[in-house]
Amino acid sequence: MSQVFIISAPSGSGKSTLVRRLMESDPNLIFSVSYTTRPPRGQETNGTEYNFVSRSDFEAMIERDEFVEYAKVFDDYYGTHNRYIHQGLAEGKDVVLDIDVKGARQLRERIPEAVSVFVLAPSREELEKRLRARGDVSEQVIRKRVAVAAREIEDFSQYTHVLVNDDVERASDLLHSIVKAARARSSNRDVVASVQKILGTFQQ
Ligand code: ADP
Ligand code: 5GP
Repeated sequence: MSQVFIISAPSGSGKSTLVRRLMESDPNLIFSVSYTTRPPRGQETNGTEYNFVSRSDFEAMIERDEFVEYAKVFDDYYGTHNRYIHQGLAEGKDVVLDIDVKGARQLRERIPEAVSVFVLAPSREELEKRLRARGDVSEQVIRKRVAVAAREIEDFSQYTHVLVNDDVERASDLLHSIVKAARARSSNRDVVASVQKILGTFQQ
């Protein structure tokens, strides 16, 4: 059975870093490449980090109901195309979604069995340091992102897991453990079904 893993975090917490490491360490995962109207940053290429589209194309996709969820984040649209979920089911692989807290809320309603992980930097100071280290935003934007982070953190209890990204190695290992434990749980359900079937043969 394919699983859906939602990974959310306030911007700058280190979520992309953890998701990249997770994808590298596990061949049975499919990364859902989101659609966005924001322009590419740095080395980003179309189809790898994101599918970059115009606002009118994005709105046409909304009209055609192609997104399992979408949200406006920092003035741009971001959305999860339903084909990644279908691809996961077809290939028997698990699907990883790197989406914001608004998208995570929608996803949990549509796929309640999805496993969700909320990633947090260990402190506000560390979050600011990481946002600055990325070097792609002004001090004003950093202040805005920190304020948004404070609001987003209030959603933490809605997630299956909260992961503090202090040491990157430790946090990566934990994230991979969460994935493996969720798989074990779902195969356990299969075990219960098989045991019940075997038990049935004893009771005939
Ligand atoms: P997000 O995707 O959550 O916005 P990034 O993965 O881009 O965050 O990380 C933001 C910055 O913090 C990057 O410069 C990244 O290298 C750094 N970073 C990520 N995880 C850690 C960590 N555990 N310790 C220190 N720096 C980190
Ligand atoms: P960035 O522009 O820094 O890559 O991403 C900004 C935010 O948008 C991040 O929190 C990221 O998780 C979120 N995001 C990326 N793709 C999607 C998506 O498909 N749906 C939603 N709701 N958020 C997304």
